[in-house]
Amino acid sequence: MIFLSALLSTGLLAAAAPYPDAARLAGMAARFVPSKLTADVSTLSAGDRTALRKLVEASRIIDDVFMDQYWSGNRELWSRLRGDASPLGREQSHYFWINKSPWSELDHEEAFLPGVPSRKLPGANFYPEDMTKDEFEAWTKALPPGEREKAVGFYSVIRRDSQGKLRIVGYSTEFRRDLERTAALLTEAARATGNASLKKFLQLRAEAFLSDDYFASDVAWMDLDAPIDVTIGPYETYNDGIFGYKAAFEAYVNLRDDAETARVAFYSRHLQAIEDHLPEEPKYRTRKLGALAPIRVVNEVFGAGDGNHGVQTAAYNLPNDDRVVAQKGSKRVLLKNIQEAKFHSILEPIARKVLSPAAQRDISFDAFFTHILAHELTHGLGPHEIRVADRSTNPRLEIKELFGAIEEAKADVTGLFALQYLMNEKVLPGGPDAERRLYTTYLASAFRTLRFGPEEAHGKGMAVQLNFLLDRGGFRAEPDGTFSVDLEKVKSAVADLDRLFLTLEATGDYAGAKKLLSEMGGIRPPVAAAIEKLKDIPTDIEPVFTTAEEIAPETPRGKPKVRYPRPRPSNPANE
Ligand code: ZN
Repeated sequence: MIFLSALLSTGLLAAAAPYPDAARLAGMAARFVPSKLTADVSTLSAGDRTALRKLVEASRIIDDVFMDQYWSGNRELWSRLRGDASPLGREQSHYFWINKSPWSELDHEEAFLPGVPSRKLPGANFYPEDMTKDEFEAWTKALPPGEREKAVGFYSVIRRDSQGKLRIVGYSTEFRRDLERTAALLTEAARATGNASLKKFLQLRAEAFLSDDYFASDVAWMDLDAPIDVTIGPYETYNDGIFGYKAAFEAYVNLRDDAETARVAFYSRHLQAIEDHLPEEPKYRTRKLGALAPIRVVNEVFGAGDGNHGVQTAAYNLPNDDRVVAQKGSKRVLLKNIQEAKFHSILEPIARKVLSPAAQRDISFDAFFTHILAHELTHGLGPHEIRVADRSTNPRLEIKELFGAIEEAKADVTGLFALQYLMNEKVLPGGPDAERRLYTTYLASAFRTLRFGPEEAHGKGMAVQLNFLLDRGGFRAEPDGTFSVDLEKVKSAVADLDRLFLTLEATGDYAGAKKLLSEMGGIRPPVAAAIEKLKDIPTDIEPVFTTAEEIAPETPRGKPKVRYPRPRPSNPANE
């Protein structure tokens, strides 16, 4: 009783909040458009097909482990919900499954069910619920160095012993039963595949699940070169809202997209030529580009755990362990079919609201994805080692907290510049149609970035780009409130905007970056009016793992079947 009232007084348990009914929950879930994810398995060997099935099965266990990590009551709640066939119960379990918890990620992690803490706990289930930051810090200070490292490390939870004192429990102990089953499936997958690099990664990762030592398997993941491109294990630390120390389990079972991977290699061969022609003072150019972080393009067959709740990840950069990064670097993985699903479910409907009817015809997924590739590659171009007041330094150090916004905008605009350069040089097929598709698709995606406001770093950088290109006439606000591209003006405007970003980085100009973002980073009335029209467009997708279901049909564990397609009368664009 004391316990309950303590929770109530700290606001952790909502007293009598009105929880959403079935209709309201259906509306909340409809912000995620069910989207079929497929990948071509026809070229896989028989062994790899078996491996793929085992990996999907292993990933389903990762969902369970993640739910445990997120909240101590999660799995019990889930097993109760999935047995509830009432209309309300079905909507609750559907929305629970989208969030993998009783808290709605799109609504500040507020509870949408009774009987649970009113918000996600800051420390998730990584720490005792009653532990304070001070208690943890005082405790770790007194630990011997090796223990301290474990306490603040990625792969352990903190619990209380029978005396109430804090203690460290490794993941391999805390989640033993589930991780043993996962490791067994990874071992079976390793046996089935004929690919040596995949075999090695899976064997080492299976061992890591039982030892909490992930180093060797992270290294093997960097060397992975196989048709099945899998990421499985504890990685990101965002769910640890207290310290950001603890890694959440996730799985992405992907197939490598060979055509796109070849395209990345093709572009990479032209990067030096692009660098040599960037719109900046020649003295800022890098004479010889260094090696770039590898980029893999894949199609997701199955996502689980931290890799499948709330808004879907479309790209990730791993590993996070600095020791591995120092030795092997890191790898960027782009999930092409996730990007494509978001393009059809979100960007096309946005384009129909904000673009002029003529411009709508120029929206293209190929242009969209090509620009994403160019964006990723051009992070490697432009100033990286600079001199400011006779010091050797880099743009990140000089531009400080504003660097993220400037660098993302630089990659957007340099990506446009690079593609235009390659079209001019006839390296890529060009002409007015291809150019219009590139700039128009980019214009629509600017609205996608800006629709939730410019507060976030990427949003402010995007507002600068849009405002600049509107001021220069490269983009046009039409009298009917829509927008379009002026192909004659946009090219030189993009080059001038790129010069602005590149020069800020080359000179490490913090004051200039601050001035640009504050003067040009706001949403102006015509753009605000267009964004206002986007309110009913869904936020993201809800993945429907079509290929995974074919390869590894789910045993009837009662997970709610996603109804596909769901009629959305309020939004004809999505029917
Ligand atoms: Zn980027």
